[in-house]
Amino acid sequence: MGTPLPEDRRGAPLRAVVTGSDSGIGKAVAVAFASGGVDVGITFHEDADGAAHTAEQVRDLGVKAAVRRLDLGDLPTAAAVVDELAEELGGIDVLVNCAGTGTATKAVDMDFDTWRHVLSVDLDGAFLCSQRAAKHMIAAGKGGRIINITSVHEHAPRVGAAPYCAAKAGLGALTKVLALELAEHDITVNSVAPGEISTPMTGQEDVDPRTQPRPGVPLGRPGHAKEVAAVVAFLATPSAGYVTGASFVVDGGMLLMGPQASGMLTDSNWREP
Ligand code: NAP
Repeated sequence: MGTPLPEDRRGAPLRAVVTGSDSGIGKAVAVAFASGGVDVGITFHEDADGAAHTAEQVRDLGVKAAVRRLDLGDLPTAAAVVDELAEELGGIDVLVNCAGTGTATKAVDMDFDTWRHVLSVDLDGAFLCSQRAAKHMIAAGKGGRIINITSVHEHAPRVGAAPYCAAKAGLGALTKVLALELAEHDITVNSVAPGEISTPMTGQEDVDPRTQPRPGVPLGRPGHAKEVAAVVAFLATPSAGYVTGASFVVDGGMLLMGPQASGMLTDSNWREP
């Protein structure tokens, strides 16, 4: 990606792999990339139809789509999907680690397999996919971008989400280490940390977030997947070439509310997941 200046189209990405792009934020990212002329590698875990639909939308925008099933509960083998997609697309300029899963169980009641599974999908998987993508980017010698979808729980905890919070905070730390280590190859590494976004994960597929009041969130509503995708897409442009090791919170102001909200709560319901 050279040393891009803001108006410079040289170094714009050509090929991106977006894990977990059959639905939600990943799908919105895949479509945003395709709108910018970027070929997209799409992965799904269970929702093959969703992945086929994302691929259709991507191809309708005049670029290439390649689709693979990826099970980040089956590591390290499954990460080879990044190599397969890079080969099919003719290279990889951008990796977005978006696949993720969570829990709603208190830590004292959580079995070890559940803990390990969330760590595997949300942290180990992102590590191994980043490693594979970085090797391709280094070999190609043209720089690259790695963008990790973390969460506000990269920065703040939540009852019932011990492995999710540990994984997302870990992914935030991994982002910073990779930013240091890969900078000499002109590869930037950043995280995007969404608050509540209307997607299948929050039970709001096809819900217009503007119809969902959230009095506790400063902007008063959940976010739309496209509002997260816009930040991811920006980080992949040449204009973002000097940004690395940063965490971009996209949460309508939710994280700012800690002290204010805790002063307003009148019962202890928050203690249960
Ligand atoms: P989503 O549409 O349900 O996306 C989750 C994705 O992860 C799906 O593509 C899913 O594939 C994939 N996945 C789940 N288990 C997997 C596994 N074992 N191996 C590989 N892929 C797996 O929900 P989303 O909200 O867009 O979530 C995307 C990312 O945003 C996640 O990392 C999530 O933690 C993060 N996030 C979401 C919110 C929010 O409020 N929505 C907030 C903060 C952070 P299948 O659909 O095929 O099972």
